[in-house]
Amino acid sequence: MIIDAHVHCTGQERSSEVLRSLDQAGIDMAVLLAPFLSEGYSLEDPASLRRGNAHLARLVRGHEDRLIGFAVLDPRSKDAPEDLQRAYDQGLRGVKMVPTGWYPYDTEVQPLFAKAHELKLPLLFHSGIFIDGRSGRFCRPTFFEALRDYPGLKVALAHLGWPWTDEAIAVGLIELIHGVAPDHVMFRFDISFGPPPVYRREVLSKALAVLGPDLLQFGSDCFLPCSGAHIAERKGWVVDLLDELEVDARGRERIWSGTAAAWLGLDAGEAAMRAARAKQGPPEAEPESRLLASTGRLFTSLLRGDEDRPPGLSPVCC
Ligand SMILES: [Zn+2]
Repeated sequence: MIIDAHVHCTGQERSSEVLRSLDQAGIDMAVLLAPFLSEGYSLEDPASLRRGNAHLARLVRGHEDRLIGFAVLDPRSKDAPEDLQRAYDQGLRGVKMVPTGWYPYDTEVQPLFAKAHELKLPLLFHSGIFIDGRSGRFCRPTFFEALRDYPGLKVALAHLGWPWTDEAIAVGLIELIHGVAPDHVMFRFDISFGPPPVYRREVLSKALAVLGPDLLQFGSDCFLPCSGAHIAERKGWVVDLLDELEVDARGRERIWSGTAAAWLGLDAGEAAMRAARAKQGPPEAEPESRLLASTGRLFTSLLRGDEDRPPGLSPVCC
């Protein structure tokens, strides 16, 4: 059972293509984030986010056994709580937010946090630096401690907060020190890779040593539509790291699915049932020309391999 806990939509993807890519990559379930970085969508434009959330709701409808849709909202918008209720009514089951222009402790963003708390929805936040040049100053891990005002909320911080990974680990450690069981703590972390490759082994090694695998979850951070091979490549980075660090079978189970299942509120039986339903198929080669055409200009350089960029770094991250 593998859950990809961090996959971006662009508005160009279709359900059948998404499921096929997941099958090709050997992914059983995926958390899909509504579009906000692609053409026609913007965090600064709440109407575009509403359109993106509606698109995602249509995408996941009928495929809830494998696709979990997360609304994307700007909590500064006074309509954000109402927009979240609408997204929830449409079938979305979590919220992704990107602190850019606001801090998680700002008064103006609290109504949306309160609404998510009321609906008992899991949250995913970008944390750490932005690769695309936006200022990451809003996204330091300790700023998210403001969410402790909403006990019971389940929060995932992306990219392990890189470059503030020590800070992220410290935030995650607090409740463990006080004896809270991992599945009931507020913060867990996805290891979709903000860190450049040279940091990854050290970062994951420290996180495993301090937090253990119970607070770590896999996320590819891929942008749809993309091939299964693209997702599988990122999955392979994690496989290699887990091998290098000699993570045991239980630890792997947590990172691949257990931690995310608890975050999403799936009980073990339900998750296993979903896994059993998940369609498995042999990877199919996809012609590069079709792949590039369907992926859009933003991602073509990544798929081709951009020699100016260190291997494994994405042009955007959130
Ligand atoms: Zn992302």
